[in-house]
Amino acid sequence: MKQIVFIGGFGRSGSTLLETRLSQSGTFFPVGELKYIWSRGLINNELCGCGQKFKECDFWNPEISDAFGGLSESDVLRIEGIRNDVEKNRHLILREWVGVRDQSYLELYDEYKRILTDLYNSIFKLSGFNRLIDNSKDVAHGLLINRLDQYSTKNIQLVRDSRAVAFSFNNPKIRPEVHWKKEFMKKRSCFSSSFYWIMLNYQMEWLAKQFPTKRVRYEDLVSGNNEAFEEVKKFLKGYEADEIKPSGQNITHTISGNPLRFDRENEVVKDERWINEMSLFDKKLVAFLNYPLLKKYGYL
Ligand SMILES: [Zn+2]
Repeated sequence: MKQIVFIGGFGRSGSTLLETRLSQSGTFFPVGELKYIWSRGLINNELCGCGQKFKECDFWNPEISDAFGGLSESDVLRIEGIRNDVEKNRHLILREWVGVRDQSYLELYDEYKRILTDLYNSIFKLSGFNRLIDNSKDVAHGLLINRLDQYSTKNIQLVRDSRAVAFSFNNPKIRPEVHWKKEFMKKRSCFSSSFYWIMLNYQMEWLAKQFPTKRVRYEDLVSGNNEAFEEVKKFLKGYEADEIKPSGQNITHTISGNPLRFDRENEVVKDERWINEMSLFDKKLVAFLNYPLLKKYGYL
C-alpha cells in the first residue's frame, strides 16, 4: 500500500527541515505544502522548490495534466474554493468537534477527497515513489488524508517552543518563490501566534487519538545527536519496503515552505535567536497563553 507521511502542527517549527532530511534518504518524495498547490501553484504560479515557475516545472506540469487533463482557470478557482471550505482549521472545530455538517458540506468534502486522490495517485505514478511526504501542517488537511482509504498514512506532530515560533513570526523572512515582487512570509503578533500554536497542537493531539502519530520536537531534531530523527525513521518503518531511488542532487519539487528549501546544501542551522533577542514581556506572555502544552512538551 502506498504511504503518505503528513507533517502537522504550526508554521515556523522546522517542518521544511524535517521534510528535507527525510527525503534525502531517497525513500520519500517530498511535495511540500500540497494544500497550496491551487493558490500558490496554479493561480499565482510561484516558484517550485526546483526553481522553475510552477506551471513550467518539469514535474508538476505533466503531473497536473495526468491527474486532471486540462484545468481552466475557473476550475482551479472552484477547487481552491472547495479546499478553503473543507480544510479550514477553524471549520474543523465546528465540523468535527461540534458536529455541524450539512449535506452540501459533506458533498464538497467527498468531492475534495476525490480531487486529492487523483492528485496523489498521479504523484505516486509520475514520481515512481511509493511514499510521499505532505508538509501541509494544517490538521484539517491531515485529517482528510487519513480518511483516504487507498493509502496508509502516518502523521508526525512537529512541535517547537512557542516562544521561538512567536519570535520567528515577528521577524518575517522574504518569500523567494514570489518571483515578480518582494513579499514576506506572514507576520503575526504574539497573541495570534500563541493562539494558532495551541489550537493546532490540540488539534494534532485529537488527530493522534484516531490515527498513527508520532510527536517530535524541533529542538531535539537540531540538537546535534541523531536520536530524535532515528525515532521518526523507526516510526515510519513497518510498511512495504521501497526500492531506494535517488532524489536527484537535492532538487525537490516542493510547493511552498521555508526559504531553506531552495538551499541545495541543506545545512542544518539551529535557530535559537529568540533566547537573547525576544523581550521578557513577550516571552512571559507567550508562556502564559500556551502554558499547558509548553509544560506537557517539556519546555517549562
Ligand atoms: Zn519543480
